[in-house]
Amino acid sequence: MRFGRFEVHLFSAGVFKQDGGLMFGVVPKVVWERALKPDDRNRVTVPMNCLLVRDDRNVVLLETGAGDKLEAKWLDVWGIDPREHVLHKLKDRGIDADEVTIVLNTHLHFDHAGGNTVRGERGRPQPAFPRARYVIQRVEWEDALHPHERSRASYFADDFAPLERAAEFVDGEAEILPGLRVVRVKGHTRATQYLLLRQDGRTLFFSCDFMMSRHHLPLPWIPALDLYPMDTLAAKKELLPRAVAEEWLVAFTHDLPRFGHVRERDGKYVFEELAAQP
Ligand SMILES: [Zn+2]
Repeated sequence: MRFGRFEVHLFSAGVFKQDGGLMFGVVPKVVWERALKPDDRNRVTVPMNCLLVRDDRNVVLLETGAGDKLEAKWLDVWGIDPREHVLHKLKDRGIDADEVTIVLNTHLHFDHAGGNTVRGERGRPQPAFPRARYVIQRVEWEDALHPHERSRASYFADDFAPLERAAEFVDGEAEILPGLRVVRVKGHTRATQYLLLRQDGRTLFFSCDFMMSRHHLPLPWIPALDLYPMDTLAAKKELLPRAVAEEWLVAFTHDLPRFGHVRERDGKYVFEELAAQP
C-alpha cells in the first residue's frame, strides 16, 4: 500500500497461542469467548504482526515476531511454528535481511523481538539484520535486562542483549524519519512504543500491546498481562477519540493483519476493516 512517500506492508510472522484469561483481564470468559474461541488448553490464537515501511532510502521493520530460537517446550506452550520466520516473510516480499536499515520493536517481549536475532557461529545469537540500527525505548531495554518476578516469563535476553552495539535508545517520543514517529506509552510494560506515520494530513497508527487487537477497543478490555492497567485505560481514553476524529488508519499487533478505522457507535469503539485491503 502507498502511504504518502512510503510503501507500507502489513503481514504476520506466524501466530501464537495465548491464555485467554491473560488476554482479557477482568472480562469474564463467558463474554470474551464470544470474541475469540479458546482451544482445549484455554488458549486463543493470535497473529504476530509486523509492519514494513519503506521509502527510496530506508527499509523500516516494526516488530520481528517470535523468531526461531525458542526451545521445543516453549514452541509447544505458545503453539509457535518457527518456520513462519520474519526473514522468510520478508523474502516472500523480495527483501533480504541486509536491506533492512531500521528495526523497531514496540517492546522486547519474545513475540515481538524474537526475530531480532538469529543463531550464528557456535549457536551464539547475533543480529538478524546486520546493517540495521535497532530503535528501542531506553526504559524498556533496562526493564528487559532486569526483569522482575511478574515480567520475567516474557523476556528472553538472547532476543535483545546481543544488540547492544546496534541499538539506538530513545526516551519518550522520537522522530525516526521525517513523518515517522514512535511514541512511548506506559501500560503493557513501563515503556512500550507505538508508531505514528503522518503523510499529507493523514495518520497511520500501529498500536502496541496496550491495545493489541480490535477486541481491546472497549475500554475495560485490558489484558491481565499489562503491568500498569490503569495507565492502559488512560492511554486508550486519550488516543481513541483522536483515532476516531482524525480517521487514523489503524493496525494492531495481535489481530488479523488488516488495516481499518476506529469508529464510535452508540458510545462504543468498534473496528471497521477497510473494504479493499491493500
Ligand atoms: Zn505481544
